[in-house]
Amino acid sequence: MFLVYIFIFMFGAIIASFINLYVTRLINHESIVSPRSHCNSCGKVLRWYELIPIFSYIALNGRCSKCKEKIGIDCLLSELLLGILYVICFLVYGFTYDTLIGMTICTLLLSICLSDLKSLIILDSSLIVSIIIIFVLTFLASGLRGIYLAFLYGVFGFVLMFVIKIIGDAIFQRESLGGGDIKLSFITGLVLPYNLFLVSLVFACFMALPYAIIINKKSPDGEVPFGPFLTLGLLVTFLNKSAIMYILKIVVG
Ligand SMILES: [Zn+2]
Repeated sequence: MFLVYIFIFMFGAIIASFINLYVTRLINHESIVSPRSHCNSCGKVLRWYELIPIFSYIALNGRCSKCKEKIGIDCLLSELLLGILYVICFLVYGFTYDTLIGMTICTLLLSICLSDLKSLIILDSSLIVSIIIIFVLTFLASGLRGIYLAFLYGVFGFVLMFVIKIIGDAIFQRESLGGGDIKLSFITGLVLPYNLFLVSLVFACFMALPYAIIINKKSPDGEVPFGPFLTLGLLVTFLNKSAIMYILKIVVG
């Protein structure tokens, strides 16, 4: 069993290292295939043994083997983080499709954190890939009926967030929610039924609040990227859905 955990952790780290490359290059309008992975300082093309997640960073002591320039620690951190998140998904849902859906949400979370926190955008391609994977997994888990339900809830989430945006724009006299946030809510709807969708929204707001206060203190016009918090709200709700359903049943009846 220990080996399974190691394998899942390493799988998460490898995916994270790919997502890092993918997001950084797309944001900088570079091609994903070429040039090959290189040191950003001296341009040295990295060998295969310098591309192993986590291990290479430790072996190279966090520096380029040629020019000794420091390699960004965010790469290492995201590899560790995604590895751990994948293992948590497996601990919660075991050998089920829910584990794979959870992993998809974690990967989306990383990709959105990298793009939204750095440049306030959510890459359409990361949303589209997630939607396709979730549709396939939902079909495998619960057939066409499952897809139909997921789609309905997805549309519910999308429309709800769109209405919130229109009201928000009118109240604050500026863009309250980005287009990416609304598309993201379609994904939240695919994964969660409407009552859990609302719970995830509450989680997202509570987690975004401290961040918004800090940003607002620094610059009153500063924009808060909401995407990472929406995805985090989705993940927390998804991983605890049976517990939350139980509490909702007691509270709402
Ligand atoms: Zn270098």
